Amino acid sequence: MTLRMAVPNKGRLNERALELLRKSGLEMDVNWGRRLYASVDNQDFEIMFVRAQDIPRFIHSGTVDVGITGLDLILEADLDVEWVLDLDFGHCRLSVAAPEALGYKSVEDIPEGSKVATSFPNLAWQFFASRDKNVEIVRISGAAEITPHIGVADVIVDLVSSGSTLRTNRMVEIDTIMRSQAVVVANPGSMDTKGKEILDLASSIESVLLAEKKKYLMADIMTETLPEIEKMFPGMAGPTVMNLAGRDDMVAIHVVIDKSEVYDAVNALKAMGAKGILTLPIDRLVP
Ligand code: AMP
Repeated sequence: MTLRMAVPNKGRLNERALELLRKSGLEMDVNWGRRLYASVDNQDFEIMFVRAQDIPRFIHSGTVDVGITGLDLILEADLDVEWVLDLDFGHCRLSVAAPEALGYKSVEDIPEGSKVATSFPNLAWQFFASRDKNVEIVRISGAAEITPHIGVADVIVDLVSSGSTLRTNRMVEIDTIMRSQAVVVANPGSMDTKGKEILDLASSIESVLLAEKKKYLMADIMTETLPEIEKMFPGMAGPTVMNLAGRDDMVAIHVVIDKSEVYDAVNALKAMGAKGILTLPIDRLVP
């Protein structure tokens, strides 16, 4: 059964989404250019490139079975789709921000009836309603940060990651509405009919995310140092130990370690007389 998937065609989420699919083993035509569809080599898979904002609707309507987009866009669309996997990129927060000059420190300081410019009218409306604050929502499609300077709005609700755009425009963040990241979501009906295919896709991507945090380390160590070295690498299943042909004094170890441990591990092994130390990237890791 063909699995139809939507991926952002441009913007912040496009590149990393494609990279994750490729690393998962889904090879597609690299020069897809302005095409709407790509098929995947050797798999019953069809990829549709559309705007990140449109993906929740295409998934909800069943035009595609599954998709990658921002959690912010899913919540704003307020359509019934099923969460499948967090992707740990596209991190940002939807925040309320005001011009520095107004001196607002919290939402309570925003006067009743203020104009709020945003491309997230639903989430903004819900947020202000939950704070019993009457505001006028001004729907825009982008560049919210300039609207207070041109008199279109008093404050804004917009996505922030580093905060540099706000600082450049002399605005301050005064509250956070939600935190977002890229996610995999699916059509609830497709979860019933193509659940296995969707979960296989999710676990493939998950194995890439896990592998990216790890390295494969190999070294030839003095046999007598083995007990101590085994204690150094208690993670996963401990090191795999192999004999070296014609040598009793040395064995080879292979071990999967966190990237963050590589620097210390290599130095420690070297200090213990290890030779031929190698670290290698891992493509996928299924624990
Ligand atoms: P696009 O408008 O196609 O670049 O995609 C925007 C999506 O990227 C948003 O809906 C968020 O999910 C995500 N994103 C991550 N960081 C930011 C940011 N600083 N500003 C805007 N969008 C961001």
